[in-house]
Amino acid sequence: MARLFPNSFAAPAKIARADGVYLTDTTGKKYMDASGGAIAVSLGHNDSDIIDALDAQERSVAYASRSVFTSQSLEDYAAELGTVLPMESPYIFTVSGGSEGVETAFKMARAYHVARGEDSRHKIISRRGEYHGATRGALDATDRPTYDRLYRPWLGQTARLPAYFEYRCEVPTHPQGCDDYHVAALEELIAREGAETIAAFVFEPVTGATTGVACATQSYWLRAQEICRRNGILLIADEVMCGHGRTGEWFACDHWDIRPDLLVAGKAASSAYWPLGFVAVAESVGRVIHESGLFVHGFTHSQSVVGAAVGLAVLKKMKQLDLVTASATKGKFFADALTATFGDHPNVGDIRALGLFAAVEIVADKESKTPFPRSAYVVEGIQQRALEHGVYVYTSVGMADGTNGEIILMGPAFIATEEELGEMASRLGRAIGTELLA
Ligand code: PMP
Repeated sequence: MARLFPNSFAAPAKIARADGVYLTDTTGKKYMDASGGAIAVSLGHNDSDIIDALDAQERSVAYASRSVFTSQSLEDYAAELGTVLPMESPYIFTVSGGSEGVETAFKMARAYHVARGEDSRHKIISRRGEYHGATRGALDATDRPTYDRLYRPWLGQTARLPAYFEYRCEVPTHPQGCDDYHVAALEELIAREGAETIAAFVFEPVTGATTGVACATQSYWLRAQEICRRNGILLIADEVMCGHGRTGEWFACDHWDIRPDLLVAGKAASSAYWPLGFVAVAESVGRVIHESGLFVHGFTHSQSVVGAAVGLAVLKKMKQLDLVTASATKGKFFADALTATFGDHPNVGDIRALGLFAAVEIVADKESKTPFPRSAYVVEGIQQRALEHGVYVYTSVGMADGTNGEIILMGPAFIATEEELGEMASRLGRAIGTELLA
């Protein structure tokens, strides 16, 4: 008998319906969706505008090979993305998700350099404490020991920078010296590896699944961009989790005037109504890649006509309801609600938020920021109790030292009301409870 590959829950609830910010299981129990899966459902569930767009596209053209055809929905989607991306006249290559997007961006960066006669440029730089995907190249750039432990014999090509992680900052002169430290680390790494070997620097402008809503300063980004440009290194912004309004700007790069050469998105690109991601490539880079004819790459579901129709419907709805502004203003309300509900709890080490993107770091000792031992599965316990209290939250571990460290990561749908956001905070507060204390 064939069976579904099980998830980590012994007896997972079977979801039968989803509407707005609610998921309902087959017993009729309702859960508020505070995290939209892994921060993907940005418009809420059962949005009839998105479903209608998907349905209409399926009925007119469901599939047309990208190698010989294009379609109106793909052309329109690319044009519409151009109005919100932090790049001039970008080229758009759509894929089925974030990891595919990151792999595609890496290959594009390599093709760009080879096309310009710089064959030696192949290395990727990434920062510790960031997540870029589960496929081989993206996993190599990821810093999450629990994910890559088994596969290390296949990995090890990526050059690493320190994590930019304010709450657990290791800079001796913190907070004044952080920018200098990180800029020096970038310069040292380039000198050590040799600029002529480096293809690109990939980064999450606001971190997600690993350190949770951590970000660097404007002055760091000004300097880091200048250093990369001076050394011929392409900037790849990984906005798979933080993009599409999640942080209260269309893209997180907008907060610090980051102008990436390539930008990868996924998740909220389709609000999870279709497996969709994309790479946006700055015109100057994309043209070189295209004209060289060197970029031989693609997936069966690249440049999906249906994905484009869904992505376009999502962008239109976001503009129509001004959901980026909603994310910024509701995000402040949500952060205040989280702080008011459990900000002074002895095991809540930190609450970080930007737009409707929030992380709650759970610690054994607030003063020293010591995490609970991983063997205690504290955050899993909170997640389980949260489900009992009727709220789903996403969790992540390992941000303190690679193994220990626990966060609850939230990204409610932008259409959530203040009442619903307050209720999510209150249910999570009950799940954190009072009995944690190490
Ligand atoms: N990059 C980032 C920043 C992500 O958060 C994720 C997914 N959590 C990915 C890449 C990979 O995306 P996917 O799971 O859709 O392959």
